[in-house]
Amino acid sequence: MQRISHWVNNKVVAGTSGNVGKVYNPATGEVQAEVDLASVAEVDAVVAAAKEAFVTWRATNLSRRAEIMFRMRELVDANRKELANIVSLEHGKVPSDAMGEIARGLENIEFACGIPAMLKGGYSEQASGGVDVYSIRQPLGVVAGITPFNFPAMVPMWMFANAIMCGNTFVLKPSEKDPSAAMFVADLLRQAGLPEGVFNVVHGDKVSVDRLLEHKDVQSISFVGSTPIAKYVYETGTKNGKRVQALGGAKNHMLVLPDADLDMAADAAVSAAYGSAGERCMAVSVVLAVDSVADALVDKLKSRIPNIKVGPGTDPAAEMGPLISREHRDKVASFVTNANAEGAKVVVDGTDKAKDAGFFLNPSLIDNVKPGMKCYDEEIFGPVLTVMRVKSYQEGLDTINANQFGNGTAIFTRDGGVARQFQFDVQVGMVGINVPIPVPVSYYSFGGWKASLFGDQHMYGPEGINFFTRGKVVTSRWPDPRTSSVNLGFPQNR
Ligand code: NAD
Repeated sequence: MQRISHWVNNKVVAGTSGNVGKVYNPATGEVQAEVDLASVAEVDAVVAAAKEAFVTWRATNLSRRAEIMFRMRELVDANRKELANIVSLEHGKVPSDAMGEIARGLENIEFACGIPAMLKGGYSEQASGGVDVYSIRQPLGVVAGITPFNFPAMVPMWMFANAIMCGNTFVLKPSEKDPSAAMFVADLLRQAGLPEGVFNVVHGDKVSVDRLLEHKDVQSISFVGSTPIAKYVYETGTKNGKRVQALGGAKNHMLVLPDADLDMAADAAVSAAYGSAGERCMAVSVVLAVDSVADALVDKLKSRIPNIKVGPGTDPAAEMGPLISREHRDKVASFVTNANAEGAKVVVDGTDKAKDAGFFLNPSLIDNVKPGMKCYDEEIFGPVLTVMRVKSYQEGLDTINANQFGNGTAIFTRDGGVARQFQFDVQVGMVGINVPIPVPVSYYSFGGWKASLFGDQHMYGPEGINFFTRGKVVTSRWPDPRTSSVNLGFPQNR
């Protein structure tokens, strides 16, 4: 059985805790590897390596750091296919979808290559007589990233590229469900010339997360995962004096107005709901259909579903793969199974596929959902699209704003004025106008509102740089014998 171990000082380090997790092939339901789960002492050893590396890394020239990141960009580009296959084999998403994940992750590496140009501070000459004032931004030290199963390559790239380029050393705790992508990326960073200890991987479960949250040498935590854990990570990390950005779950609504191009809206909703089997935090989960077009829209959604080819990543024709685990598949299926009893209407039931040995479901479509139903109130995170009928734009907007989550949303309309008003009023962090999955490009920042983000800084882009650096302001005067005198008054600038 393949064993996946930790990565410290540019080498694979075998686990010593005796605890292992099972890594499945979701397309067959079989265990294909075991992953070491770190003990407290093993986490401490990884953090110690990162702490030692920080001394030299923070003093490494910006141009040298950029040179390494440019090489990493070339290596990820050259190895896209292999990385995509690794992701597909453990996560289940089809390789073409995994290629998309890598392309979006690569954007973050490209952005990070240019960070030297964004680390410039301000300078005020002659703020007082012979006194200059300037600001600099410095790295935090050892920073940690804790990542979810659903983007095992891209989400770590959201974090480590900025963190490392800003001069920090990084400890990644990837999802134990698909840990191999992190190891592949670690080896690419080694090949790119990254010194030992700057990027490390510790595999584990709650034990390692808790240790990172309390470790005095870990300065910040970047977390992406479900809302209950994000909240826990934020509260525990900040209580221990750390800077924390914790991105949580989602329930993304797509509001379709009567003037929208309904075919375009249906194509977009189906793509965004069922791509990656709905296991995307930006997946469209609820279509809000204004009454007058709801019947037509539901028909269009329904007619597209039979064309979706569900199958393993090894089948080149497959467009949608299995879910991550048997338990998760069963939980997702239960939302569909219970929907009729809750008063909704199951239009397409994809749960028959749950009989397969792999963790598959076919796409499901549920109409007439309402707040108070489980399939509306909870994050499903599977290939289930729900439709809620609303009387007006205003009811649609109010529904979105009343939801506990605020990750992504979209409006489909031809009316620019209404779209602009929506962008103004909606309480959601990422908004699409006729764009169903509005994941910001890497030179903006990614993050939701409300229960989708705990913390002040969104991830990657300019806010990522802020998060991974802290400001220092220097007030300086060079000795000038002509102006020197004793003065016990408080220093003034005028
Ligand atoms: P998860 O919360 O179960 O796990 C995320 C990480 O936390 C993993 O590394 C895991 O090992 C760790 N973890 C799990 N339980 C823990 C516990 N009790 N204590 C400490 N650590 C724990 O999330 P997941 O199932 O891997 O990922 C899916 C979730 O992530 C969905 O809710 C999805 O919406 C969310 N997500 C959000 C974003 C975003 O940007 N907002 C992006 C991707 C995924």
